[in-house]
Amino acid sequence: MPYCVNCGVEMNPGAQACPLCQTPAWHPEQDEPSYFPTTPAQVTPASKRALAALLSSMLGSVSLCCGLLNLVLKPGHPWSLYVIGAALMLWVWFVLPLLSRRLPIFFRLSADVAAVGVYVYLISLGTDGQEWFFHLALPILGILCADVFLLSFLLQGHRRSMLSSMALTIAAIGLFVLGLEFCIDRYLHSLWHPTWSLVVAVACIALIVPLRIVRRVPSLREEARRRFHM
Ligand SMILES: [Zn+2]
Repeated sequence: MPYCVNCGVEMNPGAQACPLCQTPAWHPEQDEPSYFPTTPAQVTPASKRALAALLSSMLGSVSLCCGLLNLVLKPGHPWSLYVIGAALMLWVWFVLPLLSRRLPIFFRLSADVAAVGVYVYLISLGTDGQEWFFHLALPILGILCADVFLLSFLLQGHRRSMLSSMALTIAAIGLFVLGLEFCIDRYLHSLWHPTWSLVVAVACIALIVPLRIVRRVPSLREEARRRFHM
């Protein structure tokens, strides 16, 4: 039987207060404070804008320091342009998506590829490589751009399964490698004689065929889903 902590009168087990002096009853089995926190401590995540500002200031300060150093060290050679170009490229890749989540994927991909193009152009300026930039680097970037656009269009269009997405990505890699060798061959030998890119393309096909089979056969698909947690 419980008793009042104030006046000592006997109380009903479920009573919330003493019937005589109205002192609130204490139920140690219910009111006992927990020795350990029952909910995980909540840490508010850093806002995307704050993260963008931090990354921008880091990239900006590195660019500025290298620019100033370039005035003292080898002032005749604009080596700091490489660092500034790399910082600009990283900014477009990582900070721009933080600032503009609503931008369409095609715009973001275009910005990413354009950033690579500007960076490679800066390198070509520093190495007197205008010729290779326009005849080799630019066509490769164009093929990469078309390839990535096509892949993102195909992946976005429908709700693709993991297996289909993997097969499409491998096909895109195979196509890009074929285009890469085409550009290099045309630049170096002025004719297309595919060798190593064919090996890569055949390897890609060898990966795509089993993926398609697994996708088509329900029992294999279930097995893959269980084993790889897809
Ligand atoms: Zn009492």
